[in-house]
Amino acid sequence: KSFTELNLSRPLLRACEALGYTKPTPIQAACIPVAMTGRDICGSAITGSGKTAAFSLPTLERLLYRPKRVPAIRVLILTPTRELAVQNRDLNYLTGPELVLGYLRTVLSPKTRVHSMIEKLAQFTDIRCCLIIGGLSDKVQAAALRSMPDIVVATPGRMIDHLRNSMSVDLDDLAVLILDEADRLLELGFSAEIQELVRMCPKRRQTMLFSATMTEEVDELIKLSLTKPLRLSA
Ligand code: AMP
Repeated sequence: KSFTELNLSRPLLRACEALGYTKPTPIQAACIPVAMTGRDICGSAITGSGKTAAFSLPTLERLLYRPKRVPAIRVLILTPTRELAVQNRDLNYLTGPELVLGYLRTVLSPKTRVHSMIEKLAQFTDIRCCLIIGGLSDKVQAAALRSMPDIVVATPGRMIDHLRNSMSVDLDDLAVLILDEADRLLELGFSAEIQELVRMCPKRRQTMLFSATMTEEVDELIKLSLTKPLRLSA
């Protein structure tokens, strides 16, 4: 199968081409057509499988296909940031200069993988995406949220803070919720925040959850947040 056969719009096909993607990875070939029907998806997929584009492309397609009537946040992607992951796990294995370098990298490159990937995939559209994570200025992030970006990529804790503190930011018009690296999010202790965010989302929405491992905790989150999901693995 090619990307053209997946019925993606021109601007998204152009972005795939610009990124050098010639054909969909297995998880993309399985996920994209189903996700485009609006069905919930639960995927066991590791980083490297192409899962980010697997959930981003059908989500972008949906935004292009159904433009919003009023400015609103339409998509929320919850993801553990590399910063958090590094602080909590990877730095433990580093020593000496490598530890210093590892730490500097976390401070100096606050962008997440997911956010930069979506910006690249959306580069030929007018879809706007913002990043809400710790370590960036609160004021700048609050202003970014108030400008109603179409897509918000966030860590659960930060997103909750902004929703609690701002009268003008809500998830009432959310169409798609994505839980990326669900096992990692739970490992980092975000269970309560994720549950609260799920409750703030409209009941009628599409939800996609991806996880490298399927633990009991992940299963509970699946039961809480997904409706009759199609299960995929890659
Ligand atoms: P991910 O599993 O989403 O972290 O993606 C892993 C890497 O694969 C990223 O660097 C992507 O840019 C790349 N990638 C994703 N989809 C494709 C594709 N269809 N063809 C080639 N590379 C891809």
